[in-house]
Amino acid sequence: MKTIEHWIDGSPAPGADPSRTAPVFNPATGAEQAQVVLGGAADVNAAVTAAARAFESWSESSLTQRTQVMFAFRQLLVEHEEELGRIISAEHGKTVDDARGEITRGREVVEFACGLGDVLKGGFSDQVSRGVDVHDFRQPLGVVAGITPFNFPAMVPLWMHPIAIATGNSFVLKPSERDPSAANFVARLYKKAGLPDGVFNVVHGGKDAVDAILAHPGIQAVSFVGSTPIARYVHEQATAHGKRVQALGGAKNHAVVLPDADLEFAADHITAGAYGSAGERCMALSVAVAVGSAADGLVEVLQRKAREVEVGPGDAPGTDMGPLVTKAAQERVESAVGTAADQGATVVVDGRGLKIDGHENGFFTGPSLLDHVTTEMDAYKEELFGPVLAVVRVDTLDEAIALINANPYGNGTALFTASGEAARRFQRGLKVGMIGINVPVPVPMSYYSFGGWKDSLIGDSPIHGPEGIRFYTRPKVVTSRWPQPKQQVTAGFTFPTSH
Ligand code: NAD
Repeated sequence: MKTIEHWIDGSPAPGADPSRTAPVFNPATGAEQAQVVLGGAADVNAAVTAAARAFESWSESSLTQRTQVMFAFRQLLVEHEEELGRIISAEHGKTVDDARGEITRGREVVEFACGLGDVLKGGFSDQVSRGVDVHDFRQPLGVVAGITPFNFPAMVPLWMHPIAIATGNSFVLKPSERDPSAANFVARLYKKAGLPDGVFNVVHGGKDAVDAILAHPGIQAVSFVGSTPIARYVHEQATAHGKRVQALGGAKNHAVVLPDADLEFAADHITAGAYGSAGERCMALSVAVAVGSAADGLVEVLQRKAREVEVGPGDAPGTDMGPLVTKAAQERVESAVGTAADQGATVVVDGRGLKIDGHENGFFTGPSLLDHVTTEMDAYKEELFGPVLAVVRVDTLDEAIALINANPYGNGTALFTASGEAARRFQRGLKVGMIGINVPVPVPMSYYSFGGWKDSLIGDSPIHGPEGIRFYTRPKVVTSRWPQPKQQVTAGFTFPTSH
């Protein structure tokens, strides 16, 4: 059986204790296909030591050299998109096309990082006092780390490392232990792109590796994306150890449909947003809020479309939706549909017990559609992270806005309407970080920043775009004077002011 090793200092590394491993499954067959090594403090320390050494020269490299590496890396991501997409699909379960989509969105962050020369420009103020100028510039932090979830094994790390590396830091990635291979593949691409050894490292593992990162004195900053309880834990621990932290958490994303919306269009997009990637997206639409007279018609179309979703292995042509990532996830989601029925929801489409011919042991469940869900039910309160869409009925847009604002999460939301006035009221009134108007999954482009509000983001730092540049660098302001040969410059004991 294949063993997936760490990647430290430009090479695969078996780790301090190669006997500590976890199984990696193929979710479409249910078969164990590899073992991943589980790192601990010694492995994190080896990666940080390599990264700290590499930082010495990488942080001194020119913007031109760093930009060239980013351009080469971007080109390699284009050339290897299909191959990387298949690697992701085989461990995560999502379709190859969907995996290629996440690579594209991640590659856009590399494209943003290619514009490093522009985004790192500082300011300059001439003659702030007689003969005195001020300028500022930003410098990298040192060794920084990323801890990432299973659901986007390429894109979420790509939200982090291209910006960290382009701004002159070195990076230690701790990817999800459930689909670890994409991280090693990306490490090889960086090496091929000319990135010096030790600038990008991968340490595999679970809690032990995370705890070692959070406590390591050589790591200056931690980027985390995952579930809210772990985001909170990472934020608390890393800040307690004096690190800068960005920690993005879970979600419960609502799509509001007004009576003036094109119901066919709305249902089409909500179906794709709810069941794409089997609902295992932090921006998945898991609640449709039907306003007033929109409800019956909407549920009718959603039902038809849910039944049309092609479920199958991620690498089979024509598949819309693959399996869930683990057996436990499959069982959790199917049990949640049962609980919803027990609590009074109407199960309009029941995805439980789905068997795919030739893949009977795969972790499949079909799309489920629940109607008449209320905010007291578990199906509304919990992040199910599966292909379950709950319909909640309300009377007005203001009621929909109040409902979303009362939800503890605030990652993404969408409104389907033909009214500009309603759209404006919606986008201004919500306590949510990312809003789509007739756009179901409003993931910001790489030159904006990504981040939710409330329990979807712990602390105050969104990810990538301008916030990414700010996060991975710290500013320095220089006040300078070059006295002229005959100029009298007298020192004073009062606090310096301009004149
Ligand atoms: P997770 O929180 O279980 O794991 C995330 C990372 O934390 C992994 O690397 C994992 O190894 C590590 N981890 C897990 N348990 C830990 C523990 N007890 N102590 C320390 N580290 C631990 O998340 P997941 O199941 O891999 O991913 C799904 C979650 O991620 C969902 O909640 C989803 O909404 C969220 N997510 C959020 C965003 C966003 O941008 N807000 C994006 C993608 C995923």
